Amino acid sequence: MKIAVFGAGYVGLVSGSCFSDMGNSVIIYDNDSEKINDLDRLKIPIYEPGLYDLIRKNHSEGRLQFTNNVKRAISESDLIFIAVGTPEGEDGSTDITQVIQAAEIIGRNLDKYKIIIIKSTVPVGTNESIKNIIKSNLTSEIPFDMVSNPEFLREGTAIRDFMLPDRIVLGSDSGKAFEIMTDLYQGIAHTENPIICTSIQNAEIIKYASNAMLSARISFMNQLVPLCEKYGADIKEISKGMGYDDRIGTKFLQAGIGFGGSCLHKDVSSLSYILKENGFDNSLIQSIIDINKKQKIFIVEKMLDKMKELEGAKIAIWGLSFKPDTDDIRESPSIDIISELLDYGATINVYDPQANNNMRQIFPEVNYFNDPYSCAAGCNAIVLVTEWSIFKNLEFKKILESMKDKFLFDGRNIYDKFDMNHLGFKYYGIGR
Ligand code: NAD
Repeated sequence: MKIAVFGAGYVGLVSGSCFSDMGNSVIIYDNDSEKINDLDRLKIPIYEPGLYDLIRKNHSEGRLQFTNNVKRAISESDLIFIAVGTPEGEDGSTDITQVIQAAEIIGRNLDKYKIIIIKSTVPVGTNESIKNIIKSNLTSEIPFDMVSNPEFLREGTAIRDFMLPDRIVLGSDSGKAFEIMTDLYQGIAHTENPIICTSIQNAEIIKYASNAMLSARISFMNQLVPLCEKYGADIKEISKGMGYDDRIGTKFLQAGIGFGGSCLHKDVSSLSYILKENGFDNSLIQSIIDINKKQKIFIVEKMLDKMKELEGAKIAIWGLSFKPDTDDIRESPSIDIISELLDYGATINVYDPQANNNMRQIFPEVNYFNDPYSCAAGCNAIVLVTEWSIFKNLEFKKILESMKDKFLFDGRNIYDKFDMNHLGFKYYGIGR
Protein backbone atom coordinates (compact mmCIF):
# COMPACT_ATOMS: atom_id res chain seq x y z
CA MET A 1 0.00 0.00 0.00
CA LYS A 2 1.05 3.60 -0.45
CA ILE A 3 1.27 5.30 2.91
CA ALA A 4 2.05 8.82 4.05
CA VAL A 5 2.88 9.48 7.70
CA PHE A 6 2.59 13.00 9.12
CA GLY A 7 5.10 13.46 11.95
CA ALA A 8 8.61 12.04 12.24
CA GLY A 9 8.58 11.65 16.02
CA TYR A 10 8.69 8.46 18.09
CA VAL A 11 5.37 7.16 16.76
CA GLY A 12 5.65 8.40 13.16
CA LEU A 13 9.17 7.08 12.64
CA VAL A 14 8.51 3.71 14.23
CA SER A 15 5.14 3.15 12.50
CA GLY A 16 6.43 4.41 9.16
CA SER A 17 9.53 2.26 9.18
CA CYS A 18 7.60 -0.81 10.36
CA PHE A 19 4.96 -0.34 7.64
CA SER A 20 7.74 -0.09 5.06
CA ASP A 21 9.38 -3.20 6.45
CA MET A 22 6.05 -4.99 5.93
CA GLY A 23 6.45 -4.25 2.20
CA ASN A 24 4.49 -1.01 1.88
CA SER A 25 5.72 2.13 0.21
CA VAL A 26 5.99 4.80 2.92
CA ILE A 27 6.70 8.49 2.77
CA ILE A 28 7.19 10.34 6.05
CA TYR A 29 6.44 14.07 6.12
CA ASP A 30 7.38 16.42 8.93
CA ASN A 31 7.07 20.20 8.96
CA ASP A 32 10.47 20.36 10.67
CA SER A 33 12.69 20.52 7.57
CA GLU A 34 15.90 20.08 9.51
CA LYS A 35 14.61 16.79 10.90
CA ILE A 36 13.70 15.60 7.40
CA ASN A 37 17.08 16.60 5.96
CA ASP A 38 18.80 14.71 8.79
CA LEU A 39 16.63 11.66 8.26
CA ASP A 40 17.41 11.68 4.55
CA ARG A 41 21.10 11.42 5.54
CA LEU A 42 20.15 8.64 7.98
CA LYS A 43 20.71 10.85 11.02
CA ILE A 44 17.97 9.64 13.35
CA PRO A 45 16.70 12.28 15.80
CA ILE A 46 15.77 9.84 18.58
CA TYR A 47 17.30 6.83 20.26
CA GLU A 48 15.15 3.74 19.91
CA PRO A 49 16.72 0.27 19.79
CA GLY A 50 16.67 -1.22 16.26
CA LEU A 51 15.25 1.90 14.63
CA TYR A 52 18.40 2.98 12.83
CA ASP A 53 18.83 -0.43 11.18
CA LEU A 54 15.17 -0.61 10.20
CA ILE A 55 15.24 2.86 8.63
CA ARG A 56 18.55 2.27 6.86
CA LYS A 57 17.38 -1.04 5.38
CA ASN A 58 14.03 0.19 4.09
CA HIS A 59 15.38 3.56 2.96
CA SER A 60 18.15 1.91 0.93
CA GLU A 61 15.68 -0.56 -0.58
CA GLY A 62 13.49 2.36 -1.69
CA ARG A 63 10.38 1.60 0.41
CA LEU A 64 10.89 4.41 2.94
CA GLN A 65 11.29 8.06 2.02
CA PHE A 66 11.32 11.34 3.90
CA THR A 67 9.97 14.60 2.57
CA ASN A 68 9.19 18.14 3.57
CA ASN A 69 7.03 18.48 0.48
CA VAL A 70 3.54 18.00 1.85
CA LYS A 71 1.84 17.96 -1.57
CA ARG A 72 4.06 15.11 -2.66
CA ALA A 73 3.39 13.14 0.51
CA ILE A 74 -0.36 13.48 0.01
CA SER A 75 -0.50 12.86 -3.73
CA GLU A 76 1.73 9.77 -3.58
CA SER A 77 -0.34 8.00 -0.92
CA ASP A 78 -3.66 6.19 -0.45
CA LEU A 79 -3.51 6.11 3.33
CA ILE A 80 -2.47 9.11 5.40
CA PHE A 81 -1.50 8.56 9.03
CA ILE A 82 -1.47 11.56 11.34
CA ALA A 83 1.13 10.90 14.06
CA VAL A 84 1.92 14.45 15.16
CA GLY A 85 2.23 15.55 18.78
CA THR A 86 -0.73 16.18 21.08
CA PRO A 87 0.93 17.80 24.08
CA GLU A 88 -0.71 18.70 27.35
CA GLY A 89 -2.23 22.15 27.59
CA GLU A 90 -1.67 24.27 30.71
CA ASP A 91 -5.00 23.20 32.23
CA GLY A 92 -4.48 19.47 31.63
CA SER A 93 -6.47 19.49 28.38
CA THR A 94 -4.97 18.11 25.17
CA ASP A 95 -3.54 20.59 22.70
CA ILE A 96 -4.58 19.27 19.29
CA THR A 97 -3.20 22.22 17.29
CA GLN A 98 -0.71 20.02 15.38
CA VAL A 99 -3.49 17.62 14.37
CA ILE A 100 -5.67 20.52 13.20
CA GLN A 101 -2.80 21.97 11.13
CA ALA A 102 -2.19 18.57 9.54
CA ALA A 103 -5.92 18.19 8.80
CA GLU A 104 -6.16 21.62 7.14
CA ILE A 105 -3.24 20.91 4.86
CA ILE A 106 -4.52 17.43 4.01
CA GLY A 107 -7.95 18.87 3.18
CA ARG A 108 -6.49 21.55 0.90
CA ASN A 109 -4.37 19.01 -1.00
CA LEU A 110 -6.65 15.98 -1.18
CA ASP A 111 -6.78 14.88 -4.83
CA LYS A 112 -8.65 11.55 -4.71
CA TYR A 113 -10.29 9.13 -2.25
CA LYS A 114 -7.99 8.40 0.68
CA ILE A 115 -8.25 7.07 4.19
CA ILE A 116 -7.08 9.48 6.85
CA ILE A 117 -6.00 7.75 10.02
CA ILE A 118 -5.45 9.48 13.33
CA LYS A 119 -2.71 7.65 15.21
CA SER A 120 -2.02 10.52 17.58
CA THR A 121 -3.73 10.19 20.96
CA VAL A 122 -6.72 12.54 20.84
CA PRO A 123 -9.72 13.18 23.12
CA VAL A 124 -13.06 11.60 22.30
CA GLY A 125 -14.82 13.60 19.62
CA THR A 126 -11.62 14.78 17.93
CA ASN A 127 -11.88 12.47 14.90
CA GLU A 128 -15.31 13.89 14.20
CA SER A 129 -14.11 17.49 14.37
CA ILE A 130 -11.02 16.69 12.29
CA LYS A 131 -13.29 15.15 9.66
CA ASN A 132 -15.20 18.42 9.49
CA ILE A 133 -11.98 20.44 9.24
CA ILE A 134 -10.77 18.31 6.33
CA LYS A 135 -14.18 18.63 4.66
CA SER A 136 -14.21 22.40 4.98
CA ASN A 137 -10.75 22.66 3.41
CA LEU A 138 -11.47 20.49 0.36
CA THR A 139 -11.15 22.28 -2.97
CA SER A 140 -13.72 19.96 -4.58
CA GLU A 141 -16.09 17.15 -3.54
CA ILE A 142 -13.57 14.41 -2.84
CA PRO A 143 -14.68 11.46 -0.71
CA PHE A 144 -12.51 10.26 2.17
CA ASP A 145 -12.86 8.08 5.26
CA MET A 146 -11.60 8.60 8.76
CA VAL A 147 -10.09 5.91 10.97
CA SER A 148 -9.05 6.24 14.60
CA ASN A 149 -6.09 3.92 15.10
CA PRO A 150 -4.51 4.75 18.46
CA GLU A 151 -0.96 3.56 19.02
CA PHE A 152 0.10 1.54 22.06
CA LEU A 153 3.85 1.18 21.46
CA ARG A 154 6.22 1.84 24.34
CA GLU A 155 9.48 3.68 23.86
CA GLY A 156 12.45 1.38 24.33
CA THR A 157 10.57 -1.60 22.88
CA ALA A 158 8.69 0.32 20.21
CA ILE A 159 9.52 -1.83 17.19
CA ARG A 160 8.64 -5.07 18.91
CA ASP A 161 5.46 -3.50 20.29
CA PHE A 162 4.46 -2.31 16.83
CA MET A 163 5.22 -5.59 15.11
CA LEU A 164 3.79 -7.77 17.90
CA PRO A 165 0.97 -5.66 19.32
CA ASP A 166 -1.37 -6.99 22.01
CA ARG A 167 -4.20 -5.67 19.87
CA ILE A 168 -4.82 -3.27 16.99
CA VAL A 169 -7.73 -0.91 17.53
CA LEU A 170 -9.52 0.50 14.50
CA GLY A 171 -12.41 2.91 14.91
CA SER A 172 -14.41 3.90 11.85
CA ASP A 173 -17.86 4.20 10.36
CA SER A 174 -16.77 2.96 6.95
CA GLY A 175 -16.81 -0.69 5.86
CA LYS A 176 -14.40 0.08 3.04
CA ALA A 177 -11.92 1.66 5.45
CA PHE A 178 -12.16 -1.34 7.81
CA GLU A 179 -11.44 -3.67 4.89
CA ILE A 180 -8.36 -1.78 3.73
CA MET A 181 -6.99 -1.21 7.23
CA THR A 182 -7.52 -4.86 8.18
CA ASP A 183 -5.55 -5.83 5.06
CA LEU A 184 -2.76 -3.48 6.05
CA TYR A 185 -2.43 -5.00 9.51
CA GLN A 186 -3.12 -8.61 8.48
CA GLY A 187 0.54 -9.59 8.69
CA ILE A 188 0.91 -8.67 12.34
CA ALA A 189 -2.50 -9.52 13.79
CA HIS A 190 -3.16 -13.01 15.19
CA THR A 191 -5.85 -14.76 17.20
CA GLU A 192 -4.32 -13.74 20.52
CA ASN A 193 -3.58 -10.19 19.37
CA PRO A 194 -6.61 -9.35 17.26
CA ILE A 195 -7.76 -6.39 15.25
CA ILE A 196 -10.65 -4.76 17.06
CA CYS A 197 -12.99 -2.98 14.66
CA THR A 198 -15.17 -0.61 16.61
CA SER A 199 -16.68 2.85 16.57
CA ILE A 200 -14.49 5.94 16.39
CA GLN A 201 -15.56 7.07 19.87
CA ASN A 202 -14.77 3.66 21.35
CA ALA A 203 -11.30 3.68 19.79
CA GLU A 204 -10.61 7.15 21.14
CA ILE A 205 -11.68 6.24 24.66
CA ILE A 206 -9.90 2.83 24.65
CA LYS A 207 -6.55 4.59 24.33
CA TYR A 208 -7.11 7.00 27.22
CA ALA A 209 -8.71 4.35 29.43
CA SER A 210 -5.78 1.97 28.82
CA ASN A 211 -3.17 4.53 29.82
CA ALA A 212 -5.22 5.59 32.84
CA MET A 213 -5.54 1.98 34.00
CA LEU A 214 -1.80 1.37 33.65
CA SER A 215 -0.99 4.54 35.58
CA ALA A 216 -3.60 3.73 38.21
CA ARG A 217 -1.80 0.49 39.03
CA ILE A 218 1.46 2.36 39.60
CA SER A 219 -0.14 5.06 41.75
CA PHE A 220 -2.03 2.40 43.67
CA MET A 221 1.23 0.68 44.65
CA ASN A 222 2.93 4.00 45.36
CA GLN A 223 0.18 4.94 47.79
CA LEU A 224 1.08 1.86 49.84
CA VAL A 225 4.77 2.85 50.10
CA PRO A 226 4.65 4.83 53.38
CA LEU A 227 2.58 2.11 55.01
CA CYS A 228 5.15 -0.54 54.06
CA GLU A 229 7.99 1.62 55.33
CA LYS A 230 6.28 2.35 58.63
CA TYR A 231 5.60 -1.31 59.39
CA GLY A 232 8.84 -2.74 57.96
CA ALA A 233 7.08 -4.44 55.05
CA ASP A 234 8.53 -4.76 51.55
CA ILE A 235 6.43 -3.43 48.66
CA LYS A 236 8.15 -5.84 46.26
CA GLU A 237 6.83 -8.76 48.29
CA ILE A 238 3.39 -7.17 48.31
CA SER A 239 3.46 -6.87 44.48
CA LYS A 240 4.59 -10.46 44.19
CA GLY A 241 1.89 -11.71 46.49
CA MET A 242 -0.76 -9.75 44.62
CA GLY A 243 0.53 -10.53 41.14
CA TYR A 244 0.02 -14.28 41.42
CA ASP A 245 -3.69 -13.58 41.39
CA ASP A 246 -4.68 -14.10 37.76
CA ARG A 247 -7.19 -11.29 37.98
CA ILE A 248 -4.45 -8.88 39.02
CA GLY A 249 -1.29 -10.04 37.20
CA THR A 250 2.24 -8.83 37.78
CA LYS A 251 2.65 -6.00 35.29
CA PHE A 252 2.67 -2.32 36.25
CA LEU A 253 2.59 -3.18 39.94
CA GLN A 254 6.02 -1.74 40.78
CA ALA A 255 6.26 1.03 43.31
CA GLY A 256 9.06 3.53 42.77
CA ILE A 257 9.58 7.17 41.98
CA GLY A 258 6.48 7.55 39.87
CA PHE A 259 5.76 7.26 36.19
CA GLY A 260 7.10 9.64 33.56
CA GLY A 261 7.10 9.82 29.79
CA SER A 262 5.25 11.88 27.27
CA CYS A 263 2.10 9.76 27.36
CA LEU A 264 0.92 8.55 30.75
CA HIS A 265 0.83 11.89 32.52
CA LYS A 266 -0.69 13.86 29.68
CA ASP A 267 -3.24 11.20 28.77
CA VAL A 268 -4.42 10.74 32.35
CA SER A 269 -4.58 14.52 32.79
CA SER A 270 -6.56 14.76 29.60
CA LEU A 271 -9.04 12.09 30.67
CA SER A 272 -9.45 13.80 34.02
CA TYR A 273 -10.00 17.12 32.25
CA ILE A 274 -12.58 15.67 29.84
CA LEU A 275 -14.57 14.11 32.70
CA LYS A 276 -14.52 17.37 34.62
CA GLU A 277 -15.41 19.46 31.58
CA ASN A 278 -18.44 17.25 31.05
CA GLY A 279 -19.50 17.68 34.68
CA PHE A 280 -18.65 14.08 35.64
CA ASP A 281 -16.78 12.75 38.65
CA ASN A 282 -13.05 12.56 37.89
CA SER A 283 -11.79 11.94 41.43
CA LEU A 284 -10.29 8.50 40.84
CA ILE A 285 -8.51 9.51 37.64
CA GLN A 286 -7.29 12.81 39.11
CA SER A 287 -5.85 11.05 42.16
CA ILE A 288 -3.59 8.98 39.87
CA ILE A 289 -1.85 12.20 38.84
CA ASP A 290 -1.83 13.75 42.30
CA ILE A 291 -0.21 10.66 43.84
CA ASN A 292 2.35 10.52 41.04
CA LYS A 293 3.32 14.15 41.49
CA LYS A 294 4.08 13.57 45.16
CA GLN A 295 5.86 10.31 44.45
CA LYS A 296 8.36 11.95 42.11
CA ILE A 297 9.87 13.93 45.00
CA PHE A 298 9.25 11.38 47.76
CA ILE A 299 12.85 10.20 47.36
CA VAL A 300 14.18 13.71 48.01
CA GLU A 301 12.23 13.84 51.27
CA LYS A 302 13.74 10.50 52.16
CA MET A 303 17.23 11.80 51.35
CA LEU A 304 16.68 14.78 53.60
CA ASP A 305 15.48 12.52 56.39
CA LYS A 306 18.46 10.13 56.12
CA MET A 307 21.25 12.54 55.17
CA LYS A 308 19.99 15.39 57.40
CA GLU A 309 21.56 18.07 55.18
CA LEU A 310 21.38 18.45 51.42
CA GLU A 311 22.88 21.90 51.13
CA GLY A 312 26.43 21.50 49.85
CA ALA A 313 25.97 17.75 49.34
CA LYS A 314 27.20 16.24 46.09
CA ILE A 315 24.64 13.87 44.60
CA ALA A 316 25.07 11.45 41.70
CA ILE A 317 21.98 10.86 39.61
CA TRP A 318 22.07 7.57 37.69
CA GLY A 319 19.63 7.65 34.79
CA LEU A 320 17.74 10.61 33.37
CA SER A 321 15.37 9.17 30.76
CA PHE A 322 11.87 8.34 31.98
CA LYS A 323 12.57 4.65 31.36
CA PRO A 324 15.50 2.56 30.09
CA ASP A 325 16.38 2.20 26.40
CA THR A 326 15.17 5.62 25.34
CA ASP A 327 16.63 9.12 25.31
CA ASP A 328 13.21 10.62 26.06
CA ILE A 329 13.15 12.74 29.21
CA ARG A 330 9.64 14.13 28.85
CA GLU A 331 7.95 14.14 32.31
CA SER A 332 10.84 12.10 33.68
CA PRO A 333 11.02 11.97 37.51
CA SER A 334 14.71 12.89 37.13
CA ILE A 335 13.64 16.45 36.26
CA ASP A 336 11.65 16.89 39.47
CA ILE A 337 14.35 15.25 41.58
CA ILE A 338 17.20 17.34 40.15
CA SER A 339 15.15 20.49 40.44
CA GLU A 340 14.33 19.80 44.14
CA LEU A 341 17.92 18.91 44.97
CA LEU A 342 19.19 22.10 43.32
CA ASP A 343 16.68 24.08 45.37
CA TYR A 344 18.14 22.50 48.50
CA GLY A 345 21.59 23.69 47.43
CA ALA A 346 23.05 20.34 46.39
CA THR A 347 25.62 19.90 43.63
CA ILE A 348 24.49 17.45 40.99
CA ASN A 349 26.44 14.94 38.91
CA VAL A 350 24.46 13.01 36.31
CA TYR A 351 24.97 10.11 33.98
CA ASP A 352 22.59 8.53 31.48
CA PRO A 353 23.60 6.20 28.63
CA GLN A 354 21.50 8.15 26.09
CA ALA A 355 19.75 11.15 27.61
CA ASN A 356 22.59 13.46 28.77
CA ASN A 357 22.23 15.69 25.73
CA ASN A 358 18.49 16.13 26.09
CA MET A 359 18.85 16.98 29.79
CA ARG A 360 21.52 19.61 29.01
CA GLN A 361 18.74 21.73 27.48
CA ILE A 362 16.92 21.79 30.84
CA PHE A 363 19.79 21.79 33.34
CA PRO A 364 22.94 23.27 31.80
CA GLU A 365 24.26 23.88 35.33
CA VAL A 366 24.66 20.24 36.41
CA ASN A 367 27.76 18.11 35.76
CA TYR A 368 27.44 15.53 32.98
CA PHE A 369 29.47 12.31 32.97
CA ASN A 370 30.00 9.53 30.49
CA ASP A 371 29.99 6.63 32.93
CA PRO A 372 28.47 5.78 36.32
CA TYR A 373 31.86 5.51 38.08
CA SER A 374 33.13 9.03 37.46
CA CYS A 375 29.61 10.32 38.10
CA ALA A 376 29.59 8.80 41.62
CA ALA A 377 33.19 9.64 42.56
CA GLY A 378 33.41 12.11 45.45
CA CYS A 379 29.64 12.09 45.98
CA ASN A 380 27.74 11.83 49.25
CA ALA A 381 24.91 9.87 47.68
CA ILE A 382 23.79 8.10 44.54
CA VAL A 383 20.19 8.19 43.40
CA LEU A 384 19.19 5.46 40.96
CA VAL A 385 16.47 7.05 38.85
CA THR A 386 16.30 4.95 35.67
CA GLU A 387 16.83 1.20 35.72
CA TRP A 388 19.13 0.94 32.66
CA SER A 389 20.74 -2.51 32.65
CA ILE A 390 24.23 -0.98 32.96
CA PHE A 391 23.40 -0.03 36.58
CA LYS A 392 22.68 -3.62 37.55
CA ASN A 393 26.18 -5.05 37.15
CA LEU A 394 28.78 -2.58 38.32
CA GLU A 395 31.94 -2.86 40.40
CA PHE A 396 30.23 -1.56 43.50
CA LYS A 397 33.33 -1.90 45.71
CA LYS A 398 35.18 0.47 43.39
CA ILE A 399 32.25 2.89 43.53
CA LEU A 400 32.06 2.75 47.34
CA GLU A 401 35.75 3.49 47.67
CA SER A 402 35.46 6.55 45.47
CA MET A 403 32.48 8.05 47.36
CA LYS A 404 32.55 10.54 50.20
CA ASP A 405 29.47 9.15 51.96
CA LYS A 406 27.89 5.79 51.18
CA PHE A 407 24.23 6.64 50.62
CA LEU A 408 22.48 4.74 47.86
CA PHE A 409 18.85 5.66 47.15
CA ASP A 410 17.31 3.11 44.83
CA GLY A 411 14.32 4.74 43.18
CA ARG A 412 13.43 1.59 41.23
CA ASN A 413 14.13 -1.09 43.83
CA ILE A 414 16.55 -2.87 41.48
CA TYR A 415 19.15 -3.79 44.09
CA ASP A 416 19.04 -6.39 46.80
CA LYS A 417 18.98 -4.37 50.00
CA PHE A 418 20.87 -7.00 52.01
CA ASP A 419 23.66 -7.27 49.41
CA MET A 420 24.00 -3.51 49.20
CA ASN A 421 24.07 -3.00 52.97
CA HIS A 422 26.54 -5.86 53.28
CA LEU A 423 28.81 -4.20 50.70
CA GLY A 424 28.86 -1.07 52.84
CA PHE A 425 26.23 1.16 51.28
CA LYS A 426 23.61 2.92 53.37
CA TYR A 427 20.91 1.55 51.12
CA TYR A 428 17.37 2.91 50.91
CA GLY A 429 14.79 1.62 48.45
CA ILE A 430 11.18 2.68 48.09
CA GLY A 431 8.63 1.02 50.33
CA ARG A 432 11.02 -1.55 51.79
P1 NAD B 1 6.83 13.68 18.90
O1 NAD B 1 6.73 14.97 19.57
O2 NAD B 1 8.02 12.80 19.13
O3 NAD B 1 6.69 13.85 17.32
C1 NAD B 1 5.75 14.65 16.71
C2 NAD B 1 6.30 15.08 15.34
O4 NAD B 1 5.26 15.71 14.61
C3 NAD B 1 7.46 16.08 15.43
O5 NAD B 1 8.54 15.62 14.67
C4 NAD B 1 6.87 17.37 14.84
O6 NAD B 1 7.84 18.15 14.17
C5 NAD B 1 5.84 16.80 13.88
N1 NAD B 1 4.78 17.73 13.49
C6 NAD B 1 4.15 18.65 14.25
N2 NAD B 1 3.19 19.27 13.53
C7 NAD B 1 3.21 18.72 12.29
C8 NAD B 1 2.46 18.92 11.13
N3 NAD B 1 1.46 19.80 11.09
N4 NAD B 1 2.76 18.20 10.04
C9 NAD B 1 3.76 17.28 10.07
N5 NAD B 1 4.50 17.03 11.16
C10 NAD B 1 4.23 17.74 12.26
O7 NAD B 1 5.51 12.88 19.31
P2 NAD B 1 5.34 11.32 19.56
O8 NAD B 1 5.93 10.93 20.86
O9 NAD B 1 5.74 10.59 18.32
O10 NAD B 1 3.75 11.23 19.73
C11 NAD B 1 2.90 11.42 18.63
C12 NAD B 1 1.49 11.04 19.07
O11 NAD B 1 1.43 9.64 19.40
C13 NAD B 1 1.00 11.77 20.31
O12 NAD B 1 -0.36 11.99 20.19
C14 NAD B 1 1.27 10.79 21.43
O13 NAD B 1 0.40 10.96 22.52
C15 NAD B 1 0.99 9.47 20.74
N6 NAD B 1 1.69 8.32 21.29
C16 NAD B 1 2.99 8.44 21.66
C17 NAD B 1 3.66 7.32 22.14
C18 NAD B 1 5.10 7.44 22.60
O14 NAD B 1 5.56 6.50 23.26
N7 NAD B 1 5.83 8.49 22.27
C19 NAD B 1 3.00 6.09 22.25
C20 NAD B 1 1.68 6.01 21.83
C21 NAD B 1 1.03 7.13 21.35
